[in-house]
Amino acid sequence: MQELKPILTDSYHRQHSYLRISLIERCNLRCTYCMPKNGIELSPKSNIMTSNEIFDIAKIFVKNGVTKIRLTGGEPLIRKDITEIIKNLASLPVTLSITTNAIIVDRFIEVFKKYNLKNINVSLDSLNRKKFKQITRRDYYDKVLSNIYLLIKEQYKVKVNIVLIKGFNDNEIIDFIELTKNVPIVIRFIEFMPFDGNKWNKSKLVSYQEILDIVGLHYKNEDVKRIQDAPNDTSKNYKITGYKGTFSVISSVTNPFCDSCNRLRLTANGQLKNCLFSATESDLLTAFREGKNIEPIIAKAIGAKFKVRGGMNTFKKLEDTTLHSKNRNMITIGG
Ligand code: SAM
Ligand code: SF4
Repeated sequence: MQELKPILTDSYHRQHSYLRISLIERCNLRCTYCMPKNGIELSPKSNIMTSNEIFDIAKIFVKNGVTKIRLTGGEPLIRKDITEIIKNLASLPVTLSITTNAIIVDRFIEVFKKYNLKNINVSLDSLNRKKFKQITRRDYYDKVLSNIYLLIKEQYKVKVNIVLIKGFNDNEIIDFIELTKNVPIVIRFIEFMPFDGNKWNKSKLVSYQEILDIVGLHYKNEDVKRIQDAPNDTSKNYKITGYKGTFSVISSVTNPFCDSCNRLRLTANGQLKNCLFSATESDLLTAFREGKNIEPIIAKAIGAKFKVRGGMNTFKKLEDTTLHSKNRNMITIGG
């Protein structure tokens, strides 16, 4: 295992070995919880990291001990040079993975295989075509579903991300879990998180406890098994006895996992975010383009990381939407 250098360790002794790189601010969907209704102001193209810059900056993180890189966006697969980016990053000693809405996954199966891209997370918030269209503001339900099954056929262990919104898709919790009966899929329910422009409020949140209550009403207690979470896992994992797949809950709102956080985020325009909820960012790209050493900037950013959710250490603070207006919207962070 790669030795983790001090610059990736924060003042709470958390070691950051996982880098999420957002490749693009654009997307072929318009999910209401992620993208504001009127879209976003895109960064000028010249401010977006090129494929070479992504590779060179990633190498600096890997040299310092990053062992896992996840590509995200926007929609990472719509970037024209995505194959080159994957090829470059696959040459590093990291586990490379991707989060995608799967609309064009079928065009990339051979690329994923060639470059050993194993962990593929797919977003799908409803099993109902009409609702899918309502939440994504686009009509790609059949495409996404068929690509999920294509990945399964190709032996990928697909994780399906579902952002639960009260009164919208919380009545589909059991339907999603039932998908795990015959298919070795991982269903991940994500608590709806507040970001700039996504109209979050507490009443729309379906909490971890509420999800377990719904599960408890449907299945016998002894059939719902809590299973071991992987180290630094953000999800609490469960399995229904006899089912091939598993399900889990990512409870960033009601049960944050900040204590074991090992994640850093690099935005498409080269800003380092030390936390999903942080209001501040560190500009790596400008310094990199000026030929400066970016390691001290990385060290400073990590040293300044708050203990909990970018400093929103109470639910009251998290609820205060004025605090989120200082953060980006999710589409430009990448999850
Ligand atoms: N386009 C890709 C996709 O949708 O999978 C990758 C980018 S997307 C921003 C990454 C993840 O963030 C998705 O799983 C999405 O469900 C999640 N996400 C976006 N907005 C969210 C929110 N407000 N609360 C919780 N999760 C959110
Ligand atoms: Fe696009 Fe993913 Fe955001 Fe949906 S969640 S708008 S697919 S980036």
